[in-house]
Amino acid sequence: MTVLPKPDIAATVRRVPSGAGLISDQELAPIGQFIDGEFRPGSSGQLIDVVDPCTEKTIAQVPAGTTDDVDRAVAAAVKAKHGWGRLTPKERSLVLLQIADRVEQHSDLLVRLESANAGKPIGVSQDDVSSTVDTFRFFAGAARSATSQAAGNYAENHLSVIIREPLGVVGVVTPWNYPLLMAAWKIAPILAAGNALVIKPSEQTPLTTLKFAELVADLLPAGVLNVVTGTGPVVGARLSEHPDIDMIALTGSVNSGRAVARGAAESLKRVHLELGGKAPVVVFDDADLAAAASSIRAGGYWNSGQECGAACRVLVHESVAGEFVQHLVDEVCTLVVGEPGAGEDVEIGPMVSRAHFERVKGYLERAEAAGIKAAVGGSVLDGPGFFVAPTVLVDVPDGAEVATQEIFGPVVTVQTFADEAEAVTRANAGPYGLSASVFTENARRSHDVAAQLDAGTVWVNSHLVLATEAPWGGFKGSGYGRDLSIYALDDYSRTKHVMHNHGR
Ligand code: NAD
Repeated sequence: MTVLPKPDIAATVRRVPSGAGLISDQELAPIGQFIDGEFRPGSSGQLIDVVDPCTEKTIAQVPAGTTDDVDRAVAAAVKAKHGWGRLTPKERSLVLLQIADRVEQHSDLLVRLESANAGKPIGVSQDDVSSTVDTFRFFAGAARSATSQAAGNYAENHLSVIIREPLGVVGVVTPWNYPLLMAAWKIAPILAAGNALVIKPSEQTPLTTLKFAELVADLLPAGVLNVVTGTGPVVGARLSEHPDIDMIALTGSVNSGRAVARGAAESLKRVHLELGGKAPVVVFDDADLAAAASSIRAGGYWNSGQECGAACRVLVHESVAGEFVQHLVDEVCTLVVGEPGAGEDVEIGPMVSRAHFERVKGYLERAEAAGIKAAVGGSVLDGPGFFVAPTVLVDVPDGAEVATQEIFGPVVTVQTFADEAEAVTRANAGPYGLSASVFTENARRSHDVAAQLDAGTVWVNSHLVLATEAPWGGFKGSGYGRDLSIYALDDYSRTKHVMHNHGR
């Protein structure tokens, strides 16, 4: 592919001139573990620093949870599960609607808190909070409209009735990239299905989950929702193995998914995994190339590329690659990098942590050393904070680590293919199967290629548009289980067959 000279845009980080923070200490939830309806001190007395990734300053501290903390939270959930599970769908639905209203009333605070903790652009946090509200409203409705197979005489003189029951107590582990939204994707269907839960937010971004617990504390019976902060290997591991937990649900990396599944094996509890992705974006020669580039601008760089469904691995037909890259570079050059408080037009924030920043930097440095060219970006930006320039890498050889591993930053790779069969084979190569997209104006291709792609979500002429009514989840190494939609409600409940002998 012919690569045009790199545009001279030298992305800089837009800063908040006053240095003012987005939140005050009084707006944070109390320090403690949220167990049995109250914030209680952690059993170890040790604290974890929560860092603002724009300034690298500590903005809060939360307890480093222990197995004792988890055990107390699980005991509270076990005590609460029967009362909550016995409510009618209508009663649970009303609580979920109240939770949605409460979150909506505190949107501004939750947006600022999410941006302060995760470095998210304000527009991304606003979308996260409004999607959180929508998730609770959807599951409030879904709880009341769930159906099962009709009762009937499937064996002579025996009436079969299929009942959906809650599982009991669900353990939940969430990641740092969408702290509140990923919590909502779990909490809403878990509660709607009649379960109690114990959730562990990422140790890096616990603030909105704790605030959520504080905001809804008076709406839920004590013990139905419990939050234990702490690290994966301690709190997450105990949740995975705990004998009184009936299912463990994790959104996170493949390695954490493996650890959780291993921990769950002894007690044979159910496992629900939403793991990583490396979404292929297949651009055919008949596609609207400008529209495809515009979709990738949105889908590849949303949340600064820290997105499991990011449009990060472009496969473009060799005959249009040069033209397509020009469109994409033009789009990427318009992205504004900065601190969330520096304006609502900021679209690219920092990487969430020093460790993750170093990871992304390592990928860029090794790509450069391997001769892979950056059509735009390609390096990290000056600190403080963990900023990376929005990047398009071109002439990426097959098998290169930047095209096969999840970078989880604002980095899109472009590779070429010669024909449709090759495009499908290359798109399906690799361990992930979370999402994919196809850009084509050819109706046959839009169906055939979408059908052949091994991914839980496939977009045609679009990328990263989600609907609460539609399931989200992966194939292959991206895990199993579905978030959102009535399928999540199914996942968090179990079927029971009750058979009545009415023969005489
Ligand atoms: P991570 O796996 O490092 O951490 C996720 C959570 O797992 C954290 O709360 C962490 O403390 C916990 N954890 C870590 N080790 C554990 C262990 N041994 N046992 C139990 N819990 C453990 O992931 P992350 O860096 O926070 O998030 C990024 C990853 O999440 C990416 O791979 C991304 O693709 C994935 N993700 C997937 C989806 C999806 O819907 N499929 C959505 C968002 C993020």
